[in-house]
Amino acid sequence: MRISVIGTGYVGTVSASCFAELGHNVICVDIDSTKIDQINAGIPPIYEEGLSELLNKHVGKGLSATSEYDFAVNNSDVSFICVGTPSDSDGNIDLSIVRAASASLGNALKTKKNYHVVVVKSTVIPETTEKVVLPIIEEHSGKRTGDFGIAMNPEFLREGKAVYDFMNPDKIVVGSLDKKSGDIVASLYSGLDCEVTRTNPRTAEMIKYVNNSFLATKISFSNEVGNICKKLGIDTYDVMSAVGKDFRIGPHFLNAGAGFGGSCFPKDVKALIGKANEIGYEPVLLKSVIDVNEKQPSMMVKLLKNKLGNLNKKKIAILGLAFKNDTDDIRESRSIPVIKELLDNGVRVCAYDPMANDNMKRVFKNIEYHNSAIDALRGADACLIMTEWDEFKTLGKEFAVMENRVVIDGRHMLVPHDDIEYIGLCW
Ligand code: NAD
Repeated sequence: MRISVIGTGYVGTVSASCFAELGHNVICVDIDSTKIDQINAGIPPIYEEGLSELLNKHVGKGLSATSEYDFAVNNSDVSFICVGTPSDSDGNIDLSIVRAASASLGNALKTKKNYHVVVVKSTVIPETTEKVVLPIIEEHSGKRTGDFGIAMNPEFLREGKAVYDFMNPDKIVVGSLDKKSGDIVASLYSGLDCEVTRTNPRTAEMIKYVNNSFLATKISFSNEVGNICKKLGIDTYDVMSAVGKDFRIGPHFLNAGAGFGGSCFPKDVKALIGKANEIGYEPVLLKSVIDVNEKQPSMMVKLLKNKLGNLNKKKIAILGLAFKNDTDDIRESRSIPVIKELLDNGVRVCAYDPMANDNMKRVFKNIEYHNSAIDALRGADACLIMTEWDEFKTLGKEFAVMENRVVIDGRHMLVPHDDIEYIGLCW
């Protein structure tokens, strides 16, 4: 099948490359010409394990990129909207980018003769596909639904494992208003060994929010338990590893630490809160999930103050800037509020991340960036571990270069040993 993918960020680039791997012809569309040039040169605009190899394999054959909606729509049968859906200043979903992409798609569809399906892959709040995207496409194309198809197909990939997750999904959800559109979208995944859950668009939209909100709830729950355990002198990891053996609970997402970040969990939970408020329901539990998460980074700084007292002019090493390991994505990374608070306290911050230094330079120009953990640690009064990079697990002799070997671990990475003063965030 011929597919166009609108928006070549994390989801768009990964989906495009994986659809090409599944044998489809794919055209990527973006308004950012740098990304178009990168993709056409076989360079992924973002880092994801295995993405570079896939892109190089297919670019110039089954995959290309353009900024021309008309070309992409006329040379494809299905268009996936994969643009960003950030939070607005109140935390509610900002659909302006989805609206713009829908309008461009509608304009391009005006002259198209053949049947075309528009699929929303961006994470959007329930009713968006039917009440926002569909009317905009109808208005701009001059066509009615039925002349073209509309569907919602949420994406569940994990950043860092996105290519693997796309090719090995545990669920594929297709929500459509009519059977024909749903059949076409479901058929695109026929090369994957996974059942397709068929439903309507608003249910598909809700499945995505509930999925992320539940995972975020597990993390905040584990952090709250961890904070209580810490005060009681109990290792929360001992507690949760036993609790996770209950098949009704499961072992995943029970790791206490500095909290969740990334482009999805915080904004998606907030968007669901916003939608609930809009329809007159107060989502008490979901609000608490955000509250607990926002307090965790400050607890790292509190532990640091308890240990060092006044932080003014202290040199603190931050290990890890990405919101999680195996990605260069720093959106909503928990290291951001920690660094902000440290800077407010007059700290000299020395940071290291294996992949995310460059991205963080756009947020903080006034901290020092290093190319290795040992360089960041040299002469430091303390170190905070913020991201669960594998290479931090084996740190040991590197701490010897610190002025003061205090290590506050926000990710349960290190095995405590005699050469350092080890402080766990919740354990
Ligand atoms: P992103 O910000 O990385 O990428 C969005 C891309 O869209 C950018 O390249 C941007 O230039 C482009 N764009 C903006 N306006 C455009 C327009 N009018 N026409 C064409 N392109 C345009 O976003 P992302 O992280 O890939 O997320 C996309 C959507 O997928 C969001 O709704 C997000 O919530 C959802 N999602 C993300 C993930 C993830 O792990 N990042 C996982 C599942 C779902």
